[in-house]
Amino acid sequence: MPLPIAPNIRVILIGTTHPGNIGSAARAMKVMGLSRLVLVSPKHFPSGEATALASNADDILKNAEVVETFDQAIAGCGLVLGTTAHARSLPWPTLDLKGAASKAVAEVATHEIALVFGREKTGLHNEEVERCHYIVTIPTSEEYTSLNLAQAVQLMMYEMRLHALEAMNTPSLSERAPSDWQPEPPERMEVFFTRLEKALLHVGFLNPAQPKRLMQRIRRLFLRARPDENELNILNGIASALLEATPKSAKGRSEEPAPEPMKKEIH
Ligand code: SAH
Repeated sequence: MPLPIAPNIRVILIGTTHPGNIGSAARAMKVMGLSRLVLVSPKHFPSGEATALASNADDILKNAEVVETFDQAIAGCGLVLGTTAHARSLPWPTLDLKGAASKAVAEVATHEIALVFGREKTGLHNEEVERCHYIVTIPTSEEYTSLNLAQAVQLMMYEMRLHALEAMNTPSLSERAPSDWQPEPPERMEVFFTRLEKALLHVGFLNPAQPKRLMQRIRRLFLRARPDENELNILNGIASALLEATPKSAKGRSEEPAPEPMKKEIH
């Protein structure tokens, strides 16, 4: 039986190289009652190998949506959770697997949720992580943290199922009134980030010669806040007012603290 929450949850696989992993991920989804698969520029798809490994989940492959960009895949989602085996050089809000499933189940009545999985070799790239509200790590041995892609999908699907069933069987959880807070989707946030960046350049706060990590920090701040429509309108208004202001000086005066010593840059 598909879970009632299934229509609001997208499983997104980015740049998958091995079609077998796509098939195994589809099977992992169907077994746990989820069904919406979105593939971002898969290397080989459709593929006989994917269909073979999907077994009875070939309907999920048939209905899978194939898109070119990550932005297209997450459009409309109020919560974007990106799974990764590694810490990032700019630490991002992080949930463990249980925390991620419980958050997704708690929010699924009000908005669509994206569960994002990276490439077999290089995982999620930094610009993808910087579009996620949280990164999700599956606890592993410290020696070797990288699971096979389809196995990572399986664990996430299992945890989603446990939490969804718990919420269905717990009246206090399932009868909770849906929240009227509707976080803005990624495509609207990106419009704001682009406008704010332009505005900060315009007033000379962002120095193009030395941007440091100002924009990444700003993204992290506003993705953590998850503004709703009214709040984002205010923020866009502030950025527009800055764009119309006459800059005092074109000189950069970014107040971002000096970057910490670079840890290993991970993709
Ligand atoms: N070497 C890659 C590993 C990619 S494994 C890297 O540096 O990230 C393929 C995908 O499986 C990852 O992008 C992630 O989506 C998922 N995955 C693998 N191990 C994981 C873990 N321990 N926690 C969360 N996701 C994991």
